[in-house]
Amino acid sequence: MGDATLDGGCACGAARYRLKSGPMFVNCCHCADCQRQVGSAFVINAIIETDRIEVLSGEISITTMPTDSGRPHDVHRCAACGTTLWSDYGRRGVMSFLRATTLDDRGALAPDAHIFTRSKLPWVTLPADTPAFEVYYDMQTLWPPASLARRRAILGDG
Ligand SMILES: [Zn+2]
Ligand SMILES: [Zn+2]
Repeated sequence: MGDATLDGGCACGAARYRLKSGPMFVNCCHCADCQRQVGSAFVINAIIETDRIEVLSGEISITTMPTDSGRPHDVHRCAACGTTLWSDYGRRGVMSFLRATTLDDRGALAPDAHIFTRSKLPWVTLPADTPAFEVYYDMQTLWPPASLARRRAILGDG
């Protein structure tokens, strides 16, 4: 991560945010739920502590999506235009999955891993130098130690 400011926002410009640091990890998810929710081939989620997302302007509304696990998935959107900005999977409150292409520099956060490639669209070709997984991965082996420590600081060993 460089020191560049990670600012972003919604499509209408009302909601603006700033990340106070880089994320812990960046997943590119090819699961069917993500594909439907964003209406595209995949979603790029930057995983970051919720208190490191500073809302600069606008109103954020929350839509709750059903999940297979039964734990709520809260989607945080611009209240004015509905652009999804970040999600709280499982409503843990402390960890968010920021939609990385809402950053002003849409390519600033490249995926650290591709997940749920079993439902990847057949015409999407993945780069050979980024780890890819049929479903998910073992976080303990893939995440950098510093990121694991950040996660432990907000979630404990859970
Ligand atoms: Zn908006
Ligand atoms: Zn997904």
